[in-house]
Amino acid sequence: MADLHIFFLPFLAPGHMIPLVDLACIFARRGIKATVVTTTANVPLIQPTIDIVNAGDASLRHPIQLLPLYLPCSEVGIPEGHENLTAFPDPDASKLVAATDKLELSFSLLLQTHRPDCIVADLFYPWAIHVAKQFATSLISFHGSNCFVPTIMSILHGGELNQDEIETERPIEVPGIPSKIHLSLSQLPNFVLRPAEFQKKMRESYSRSHGIVMNSFYELERDYVDRAPNSSNRKLWFVGPVSLQNRDLDAKIVRGRGAASMDDDYFLSWLGTKTPRSVLYVCFGSLGRFTATQMREIARGLEATDRPFIWVVWHAGEPSDWLPEGFENRAISSGKGLMVQGWAPQLLILNHEAVGGFVTHCGWNSCLEAITAGVPVITWPLFADQFLNEKLLVDVHRMGIAIGAKLCSLKPEERTPVKGEQLTKAVDELMGNGEEAEERRKRARALGETARRAVEEGGSSYENMTRLIQELISLKAVGGSSEFTEAS
Ligand code: UDP
Repeated sequence: MADLHIFFLPFLAPGHMIPLVDLACIFARRGIKATVVTTTANVPLIQPTIDIVNAGDASLRHPIQLLPLYLPCSEVGIPEGHENLTAFPDPDASKLVAATDKLELSFSLLLQTHRPDCIVADLFYPWAIHVAKQFATSLISFHGSNCFVPTIMSILHGGELNQDEIETERPIEVPGIPSKIHLSLSQLPNFVLRPAEFQKKMRESYSRSHGIVMNSFYELERDYVDRAPNSSNRKLWFVGPVSLQNRDLDAKIVRGRGAASMDDDYFLSWLGTKTPRSVLYVCFGSLGRFTATQMREIARGLEATDRPFIWVVWHAGEPSDWLPEGFENRAISSGKGLMVQGWAPQLLILNHEAVGGFVTHCGWNSCLEAITAGVPVITWPLFADQFLNEKLLVDVHRMGIAIGAKLCSLKPEERTPVKGEQLTKAVDELMGNGEEAEERRKRARALGETARRAVEEGGSSYENMTRLIQELISLKAVGGSSEFTEAS
């Protein structure tokens, strides 16, 4: 195989970094020279994964490299070292984006030295297209989401979005798609309602890139692929779920880990004491934050179920300020539940046979991880594209129950509170023995099997990866640069 060298540039948040680093590992394990570029403070989050793949796969032709860049935080008024979205009290990415906009020059200098044949850059780096052009290198945009979201977004944009009704919780039916989906405008993120300058730049960048790689798989969205905007004139490669493809090394991979409060063995031995499919896993991604009142309601809801649970918590301050009195004694010290303050090994947990349900905020990685593990979900979206992902899980694939969240907002205090009783009811419905629950479990398991087949040799994602690699090799043979079309 011709030597191909690819630079991978993940955005600085776990939900972006984890899948793009996984993708770099997949390329490397298929014989490609892969270099991940990140900022200095993010090196410790990525290096362990790379070390494990470098040491664990004896057939690797080139060890994966990691190159650091200096992020000039103070130039944009953020504290030095705040180089990951998890470091910000609210998950508004705009300040971090302002800092990463300053990486263009130092990234160009790396390109000048290393001359890769291709850049795979997160959509959050709209400037990557200029750098790629400057060095006559192909740019592939990495979209860590799915086709369903942009499809629904473009349908809604094409229709009459009444800006005065943005706050409204009245559901409208999305026209022209095979599944019946109702959404209220209050569930849509700002970037759908009022496309901002950054969104425009992103769109321009990916429409001029050589194509888009998506962490999704064809069978999951076959009804939406052709409906996606630009689907006829953009190259699109579904190569996911990427997390499944390093599975043989996964047990050892510390994926984008923050500070963990317990080690993996502790979870495994705790889960080992529980009966199959009895445990509820509750995690709102790396950025999900709540008010103290909402935290208390979640605790009340969990305590009132009969199910053991693992609850991942990112709440600051003393637990006594946001937990019902006596909760720790009754629900944690008793052995019923685990409360993890900090990072939990989500893949390890979801794939344990003791886990039978997942309360998720519907970040796309968590959705895919639930799908691949075949675990049914309770959907509790908070912001960004999460309400749209919820629809894919609940209305299209019918593997989940919606908790009933109504308002898409980065600000916890703006969201409609969910009562503990709502959570308990949804958990009982999801994990109970009724026929509907059983059918839901079957559908989730079947989708998990489809996902696994997609990444096996001969499967859709596996073959898409092969085609993508071949295409990049051919591009290199004709001079290394892709044909940039003008923005459409
Ligand atoms: N994750 C994890 N442990 C945690 C929290 C998150 O392993 O305690 C991982 C999760 O498995 C997923 C990623 O972090 O791969 C979060 O991405 P997602 O798109 O679900 O949500 P985001 O954090 O971007 O909102």
